[in-house]
Amino acid sequence: MPIVTPLTKLLNIRMPIVQGGMQWVGVPKLVAAVSNAGGLGVLTALTQPSPAALRTAIQETRKMTTKPFGVNITLLPSIKPPDYAGYARAAVEEGVRIFETAGHSPGELIKYFKANGCIVIHKCTTIRHAKSAAKHGVDVLSIDGFECAGHPGEEDIGGLVLLARAAKELQIPYIASGGIADARGYAAALALGAAGINMGTRFMCTVESPIHQNIKEKIVASSEQDTVHIFRTMHNTARVFKNKISMEVVAIERRPGGAKFEDIRELVSGQRGRLVYENGDPDYGIWSAGISVGLINDIPMCEDLLRTMEKGVDEVINDLSSLVVKSKL
Ligand code: NAD
Repeated sequence: MPIVTPLTKLLNIRMPIVQGGMQWVGVPKLVAAVSNAGGLGVLTALTQPSPAALRTAIQETRKMTTKPFGVNITLLPSIKPPDYAGYARAAVEEGVRIFETAGHSPGELIKYFKANGCIVIHKCTTIRHAKSAAKHGVDVLSIDGFECAGHPGEEDIGGLVLLARAAKELQIPYIASGGIADARGYAAALALGAAGINMGTRFMCTVESPIHQNIKEKIVASSEQDTVHIFRTMHNTARVFKNKISMEVVAIERRPGGAKFEDIRELVSGQRGRLVYENGDPDYGIWSAGISVGLINDIPMCEDLLRTMEKGVDEVINDLSSLVVKSKL
């Protein structure tokens, strides 16, 4: 049975499953595969070297799917601050009408997207930030628990509590993000009042994901113990795969007297991390991964993954319903 929620209605998608806007991963091939499979594919704007390149990526995606897809713009500390407004303008001018924003001070971007009739999903890690984004007029919140890959914020609240709080406090639909990679997580998110789910790491490990096969196999071989936080001391915490480089960064951050960003800059550079996905060496640089790596045991096509999730969520919900009936007897 299809799951129909305010998210599927608003975005005109078959399944309330959103692909997280992942740096170096959210490229046309994956985005089109997710959208064609019935979810929402999301292009990562800053993966493209310029706003002009983003235009080309949007056009390429359109050649591969007629289904809705979105564009992610993430505002975080950067070695070379990107032209956020230029990327936003390029995507709006190319006709994109669904955006995912994330990170610090998104107010101006949200205002721009709303003024242009767009739907905005804002990703955040606290209820306080969610309420503030709602005041800015976003349509949907993506509530990112501590389990997530990349930047979980500094308050370390897991999805279970964060989403239950969201159910009590938020007046607009929200998506559950962080730690979801299977039908049980999907059903749990719905039980927690979410209108859908966001998955990042799970989509990294699909046939259509653009990353090197070795990295996909590394994810399959990993457990939930294989991620670590870097930038904890710099108030820019990021969950990344535990490897030689991330452990070196953590050791530098823990030195007596602490560390400055310059001390780790070469190690953590996104350009270096990008090469992990190209050359397939999991120890070459920093790469994002959520603790959901512990739930990922295969490398399916996106369509098969979403079909399995759809069937699985139905089974979990039915199992739960039968539990209620039994207890009434
Ligand atoms: P980068 O090479 O500029 O930085 C690498 C890492 O260092 C990032 O995690 C960044 O947040 C962090 N960093 C940079 N300057 C810092 C500082 N002064 N203090 C503390 N931490 C600092 O980034 P990149 O990986 O090449 O990414 C390029 C752009 O994409 C950046 O603007 C970044 O914010 C953004 N990004 C997007 C996503 C996404 O999922 N959409 C994820 C990560 C990064």
